[in-house]
Amino acid sequence: MSSLKVFLDVEACTGHGRCYSLAPAVFSSDDLGHCEILLAEPPEELRESTRRAVATCPEGALRIEETA
Ligand code: SF4
Repeated sequence: MSSLKVFLDVEACTGHGRCYSLAPAVFSSDDLGHCEILLAEPPEELRESTRRAVATCPEGALRIEETA
C-alpha cells in the first residue's frame, strides 16, 4: 500500500503561507503565520494538493517521502 509522509523544517519556514493556502486540510498556520502540519500522512485524495504545496514552498521547508 502506498504512503506519503510530509516533513517540515521549522527553521526554514518563514511563513509565506502557500502550503496552507494550497492544501488547507493538510497544513495550517500558527499565530505568526508559520506552517503547522495537520496531517503528516495525508490520505490519497489529498496527496496531489500536498505535492503541489510542497513543490511551491519558496523556502524549501517542506519535503515528502513516498513509497509506491
Ligand atoms: S509555504 Fe513554506 S515557508 Fe510558507 S508557511 Fe508553508 S512551509 Fe512555511
